[in-house]
Amino acid sequence: MSVLEKLTSADAIALEDKFGAHNYHPLPVVLSRGEGVYLWDIEGKKYYDFLSAYSAVNQGHCHPKIISAMIHQAQTLTLTSRAFYNDKLGIYEEYVTKYFGFDKVLPMNTGAEAVETAVKICRKWAYEKKGISENNAQIIVCDGNFHGRTTTIISFSNDENARKNFGPYTSGFIKIPYNDVEALENVLASSTTIAGFLVEPIQGEAGVYMPSEDYLAKAKALCAANNVLFIADEVQTGIARTGSLLAVCGNCTCENKCEKQASYVAPDILILGKAISGGAYPVSAVLANNEIMNVIKPGQHGSTFGGNPVAAAVAMAALDVVNEEKLSQNARHLGKIFRTELGKYIENSNIATLVRGKGLLNAIVINDTEDSDTAWNICMKMAENGLLAKPTHGNIIRFAPPLVMTEEQLLDCISIIISTLQQFEK
Ligand SMILES: *Cc1c(COP(=O)(O)O)cnc(C)c1O
Repeated sequence: MSVLEKLTSADAIALEDKFGAHNYHPLPVVLSRGEGVYLWDIEGKKYYDFLSAYSAVNQGHCHPKIISAMIHQAQTLTLTSRAFYNDKLGIYEEYVTKYFGFDKVLPMNTGAEAVETAVKICRKWAYEKKGISENNAQIIVCDGNFHGRTTTIISFSNDENARKNFGPYTSGFIKIPYNDVEALENVLASSTTIAGFLVEPIQGEAGVYMPSEDYLAKAKALCAANNVLFIADEVQTGIARTGSLLAVCGNCTCENKCEKQASYVAPDILILGKAISGGAYPVSAVLANNEIMNVIKPGQHGSTFGGNPVAAAVAMAALDVVNEEKLSQNARHLGKIFRTELGKYIENSNIATLVRGKGLLNAIVINDTEDSDTAWNICMKMAENGLLAKPTHGNIIRFAPPLVMTEEQLLDCISIIISTLQQFEK
């Protein structure tokens, strides 16, 4: 089409359909601008964002502090590769390791890359420190996990759609039920070749499944007792989303230095992505202490873009915002209101049966079969009513707005959600 014609939503959708691979099934909304908790489509309709790009935009769309750091760095130096040092990486590495309380960081770009990195570090540690014989290390993972889309990661997924016809799969993973301490204990007791336990503190993608209160602490204790690395994938749950800096911080409300809190369940390896950049740039990170991270030597792992100066500048600004704007506390406060209000509605609802979650990572379960399109239809109607959310697995709708939302905006959103649900009551 000519550049002089104004692109409509229908045009944009047709272009993606014709020229893009069909690896997503988006809601038919074409967004062209974002600010804070709001998004606008190309026709100018305004929406509340209740997905936050799968919790990447915790700091709100186009946060001025983050964007300004990005612009400044982009005008100065964007990429050197790690063939040379740059003047931002070391400063960022000190910043991010102190922020999360680890000795070292390995910077990557996407969440999946960070998970891959953690798997590699864990295996290498198993051979060189734990003394497992080469090629025999196993990593325990959980049913219903989501850790990304690479060949190795989908090898241990049980989402058939994500796996089918992508084999042969990477071996060395043992799946156990999520939130099942006994299952973990049994596997650990039955094998001497376990290197790590990779877990999401809350299973976001699967439908915001919350483990029992003491699950993580017990799992960590079992790992420690068996000299097995406890690896937390906080790509979605981290960076204030669940009402604390990390989901492994438990009920601690401080904005950082959580290692000092009693409720903190210390991961041996921490995986971060998504909101570590506030959604401005692909940034991910793997954090660990020296005795683990030092197994990686020059040439054994890397990425052309990992740790680039723009990523470093953006991530520092994005993490500053989390502290300055007390996003954990806000997520905690608003999350309680969200679950209380939705919970009250659901008591007398036929269409929604349950609300669950922590902080501002929540979901409602829709009363229909897993393969029905009711959740989809509700999301379509919510979009019409000015709020964007998307069904996740089964008949579950995840609600994850930017954490910069005000209480007044949240109450407005709750009334949009409830009035939409009312249109679907039987
Ligand atoms: C999104 C996500 C990933 C993958 O991140 P990408 O940046 O999409 O590769 C990994 N783990 C969890 C828990 C996630 O939510």
